[in-house]
Amino acid sequence: MHSKVVIIGSGPAGLTAALYAARANLEPLVVRGLQPGGLIATTSEVENYPGFVEGVGGFELAEQMEKQAERFGTKFKDALIEEVDFSERPFKLKTDSDELITADTLIISTGASPRKLGVPGEEELANRGVSYCATCDGFFFRGKKVVVVGGGNSALDEGLFLTRYVDELVIVHRRDALRADPILQERAFSNPKVHFVWDSTVSEILGENGVTGVVIKNLKTGDESMLLTDGVFPYIGHVPNTWIFKGKLDLDQNGYIIADERTRTRIPGVFAAGDVVDHVYRQAVTAAGDGCKAAMEATWFLAEQEHAALKSQKETEEVISPALGQW
Ligand code: NAP
Repeated sequence: MHSKVVIIGSGPAGLTAALYAARANLEPLVVRGLQPGGLIATTSEVENYPGFVEGVGGFELAEQMEKQAERFGTKFKDALIEEVDFSERPFKLKTDSDELITADTLIISTGASPRKLGVPGEEELANRGVSYCATCDGFFFRGKKVVVVGGGNSALDEGLFLTRYVDELVIVHRRDALRADPILQERAFSNPKVHFVWDSTVSEILGENGVTGVVIKNLKTGDESMLLTDGVFPYIGHVPNTWIFKGKLDLDQNGYIIADERTRTRIPGVFAAGDVVDHVYRQAVTAAGDGCKAAMEATWFLAEQEHAALKSQKETEEVISPALGQW
């Protein structure tokens, strides 16, 4: 399988790159990856994507972006890329089912995954009360009590979404001030179902077949206490999905790909866009903007390559034709 433009990841960055590359007649191939639609597809309500006055569901937004890219000729493949070889062009990519994909240019938009708490019980009780997706799992907590960990926009946004179902929501935050936007803070403080535990973190998740409680550690006093709960939703940030690029591209100390303001990595023809490079803004709209830039860069890169190839072919012909004439 070969494409002029291969895009790894199908969040707003990848799908916008696909839209632009498809409209440039490059027939891009999007390898969807672990989370089709990216993290935005697991978000309940998106209120700050321009053009949607009343907001839009995250899943719906991702679905519309995919259809728009498909309309102009984007191809999609459900696979995970497990190995990359950038030693020569076309670049080689190996999928989880050992298929080989070759690419003249590559746009990396593999995004980021939810950061884990890394405490006892978290792994054992994943999908049995521990969830990283309120939109997907909120329904199962109807009439119950849940804990959200974190104080950023995701914790509050998704926590507020959970209040549609749960009777009580406890937000455990490691400081005494929230990082989330003021509008979300106001909504959370005025919601009677929402309670806060400040200066604390969850140090253990309890339960056997399902979550029954958490151990909460007060970070100021060191005291530990138990809180009964039916579910835990950690929203403590994200880690970039870059493990396959270790040693192949430049990464910063937190694992984000280093690219310039034109989305170019240190390998000519390899571009990176969205949450995989951005540890500052991390918005769907900035990721989409990045995707647009990456696709335009890939288009220019291919045009330059084509131009160089034509020029060298012409030069060869010019050298050969007089020689043939003499012969
Ligand atoms: P974030 O802004 O990085 O917030 C992570 C939160 O988790 C912070 O409150 C942080 O505490 C806490 N935290 C980090 N590590 C922790 C640990 N080991 N234990 C306990 N708590 C920990 O991440 P996010 O909320 O996922 O948001 C990511 C990006 O998406 C942001 O740019 C955000 O604006 C954006 N976003 C926007 C919206 C929206 O606009 N509606 C919705 C969702 C996400 P500290 O505060 O002490 O650092």
